[in-house]
Amino acid sequence: MTPAALNETRWTTGFWAQRYEACRTKMVPEMWKLIQGTERTHFLENFRVAAGLVEGRCRGAAWNDGETYKWLEAACSLLAVQPDASLRVHVDEAVDIIAKAQRADGYLYTKVLIGQRAGDAAAKPFSDRFAFEMYCMGHLMTAACRHHQTTGTDKLLTVARKAADFLIQQFANPTPEQAKNSVCPSHYMGFLDLWRETGDVRYRDAAQHFIEMRRLVTDGGDDNQDRIPFEQQTNAIGHAVRANYLYAGAADLFMETGDTNLWSPLEPIWRNLTEQKMYITGGCGALYDGASPYGSKNQSSITRTHQAFGHNYELPNTTAHNETCANIGNVLWNWRMFLATGEARFMDIAELALYNSVLSGMSLDGTNFFYTNPLRVTDPLPTELRWPRERVPFLGSFCCPPNLARTIASSAQFAYAKSSSRDASSRSPNGDGGVAATPTIWVSLYGASELETDVPGIGKVKLAQETEYPWNGRVHIKINEASSKEFALKLRIPGWAKSASLRINYRPADSSMKRGSYHEIRRAWRAGDFIDLDLQMDTELIEANPLVEETLGQVAVKRGPIVYCLESVDLPRGVKPLDVSLSPDTKLRARYDQRLLGGVALIEGTALVRTNSNWSGQLYRELQPSKPTPIKLRLIPYSAWANRGPSQMSVWLPFASP
Ligand SMILES: [Zn+2]
Repeated sequence: MTPAALNETRWTTGFWAQRYEACRTKMVPEMWKLIQGTERTHFLENFRVAAGLVEGRCRGAAWNDGETYKWLEAACSLLAVQPDASLRVHVDEAVDIIAKAQRADGYLYTKVLIGQRAGDAAAKPFSDRFAFEMYCMGHLMTAACRHHQTTGTDKLLTVARKAADFLIQQFANPTPEQAKNSVCPSHYMGFLDLWRETGDVRYRDAAQHFIEMRRLVTDGGDDNQDRIPFEQQTNAIGHAVRANYLYAGAADLFMETGDTNLWSPLEPIWRNLTEQKMYITGGCGALYDGASPYGSKNQSSITRTHQAFGHNYELPNTTAHNETCANIGNVLWNWRMFLATGEARFMDIAELALYNSVLSGMSLDGTNFFYTNPLRVTDPLPTELRWPRERVPFLGSFCCPPNLARTIASSAQFAYAKSSSRDASSRSPNGDGGVAATPTIWVSLYGASELETDVPGIGKVKLAQETEYPWNGRVHIKINEASSKEFALKLRIPGWAKSASLRINYRPADSSMKRGSYHEIRRAWRAGDFIDLDLQMDTELIEANPLVEETLGQVAVKRGPIVYCLESVDLPRGVKPLDVSLSPDTKLRARYDQRLLGGVALIEGTALVRTNSNWSGQLYRELQPSKPTPIKLRLIPYSAWANRGPSQMSVWLPFASP
C-alpha cells in the first residue's frame, strides 16, 4: 500500500485535530525556540559552529543533530497541510545553516566536524559507534524527503543525497568494526525514503547493504541487536528504540523487496513482542537497566542492556521504561508491517500504541514531555528513578519531544492508504490479508478527517470522515467525489470490537464483519454515497497472563483503543490509587465530559477502598484485614494523566471480592 500523502488528508475536528493543533500552535513553535537557541543546549548552534558561522564548541547530546532534523520534518509536515510564512522562514534558516555545515565530501555530523575544526586529531568519522552518526544522517534523509515534498525545492534533498552517497562510498566494503555503526538505526528507513523520493535504486540497495552489514559484527551484543545476525533473531531484545527502529527498517525494506529473509525474523519477533513483552499500552522496554536474558550462560559474556526489553512476561509497572521514542518506534514498525501486508493486526498495535503510550509522552497543550511512560507512579516511589515523574519542557536527552512532533504532524498519514491493481502481488507471506486487485482505499484509523486523493485507474476521490472516535465507535464516511468507477473501501474492524454493523446509504449491509480484519466494500461509488460503521465499544476489565507477576490479582480498564488509569486527583484526600479495588460487582459506565482534559470519555462507577495503613520500616507483616468502603470511581484515559498537577497514578488496580 501507499500511504496518503500529507497534502491529501487532514484532521478536521475532534481528538486528532486537537492534538494536531497543539503540535502546530505550541509544540513546533516552542521547540523552534529551543532548537535555534543556545540556552539549554546546542542544536542548530552546533551546525553554526561546524559551518564556521560562529565561534564555539560542541554542546549537547551526541544525537542532537538528529533531533534538529526531526524538528524540521515536523515543521515540513505541518507546512504540507497549511502554509505558514513564519514557520517557513524558520525552516529555510535551519536548512541554510545545515547545508553550510556539510563537508565537501558529503559527511555531516557536527560533533566530529567541530572537533576537526578545532584541530582535534581524534575527531574522525565513525570512530565511535555511539556517536549516533548513522542515526543523525538517517533522520536527515527522512527530513529532506519531507522538505522536498513540501517545498518543491531540493536544497535539503541535495544535502541528504550527498550524505547518503558518502555513507554508501564509506561503507562499500565495511570491516566488522565499521559494521557496528548502526546504533538506533533510523538510516534504513532514511535510505528507503530517499529511494522512494528520488527513484534512485542505489538508495534501496543501500538499505539492504546496511542491514546485511550487521552480519559482519563479531563481538556485538543484544543491547544493539547485533550479537547474532538479524536473520536468525526470533525475540524482541535489547534497547527498545534501537530494536523497534531496526524492525521498522527491515519491514520497510521487506515492503520494497519482498525478501523473505527479512520476514523470517520479523514475524516471530512481532509475536514475541505482542504475546510476551509489550505493555497493555503498547509501550516497549520494561527495563531501565539490565542484562540480556539471551545468549551465553557464561557470566563474563552476558550482555549489558539498557532501556530494554526484558525476559518474557517481565513487565513491571512502576519501573517500566517505555521510552516515548520506543513506543513511536512500535508505531513506525507496525504501520510498515501493515503497508507491506494489508493485515489489520498490525494497525491494531499501531493504534494501541498511538492512543496510549505515544500520546502519554506529551502534555495536552504540547509543551511538556515524558521520556519514560510507566504504568504506575506512587508517592513515594519504591526507588528513585532516573527520569522525572512529571512531564517537563526540556530533557537532557531531547529525542522524544521532536519525535512526538513529527509523529503527530504526520499522523493523518496513518489513517488512509491506497493500493491499485498494479500493487496486487501481495507481500503477505501468510496468505491472508494481502493487497486487493481492485483499486482500494484503506481506512486504518478513525477520526474526523478529509481525504482528497488520486487512485490509479479511478481518478480523483474525495471523502470525509465524521466521528467522535475514540470516545464512541460510530463512524460516518461520505463520498464527496468519485468517478463512478468501481473501487473498494477497506475499513479496519479493530480486534477489540466484539461486533460491528454497517449501513450503506441507510441500508444495512448483509455481509458479516470479522474483527481484526479489513472489511471490503466494493462498488461503483458515487458522490453523495455514505456509510455508517458502528463498532461495539464496551468498557472491559482486562487481566494479564498470570505469568506477568507484576499484575497478578489486578485488572486494567480498557474501552475501544483507550487504556484507562486511576489518578489520585480524582480520589478523596489520603486515598491512593492502589487502595482502590474493583470487584466482579463493579459496574462501569462511560460518559463524555467536554470540560475535563480537553474533552474525554471518562469511566465512572463504584469501587472499594481499603486504606493501607503505614508500612514504614516494614517489608512483611501479618495480614491486617480491613473492611472496604464503597467509593465513587472516576477513571481517565492513561495518555491524559499528569495534566492536573502532581499526582499518583495506576493503570492496573487490585481486583478483589467485596
Ligand atoms: Zn526518545
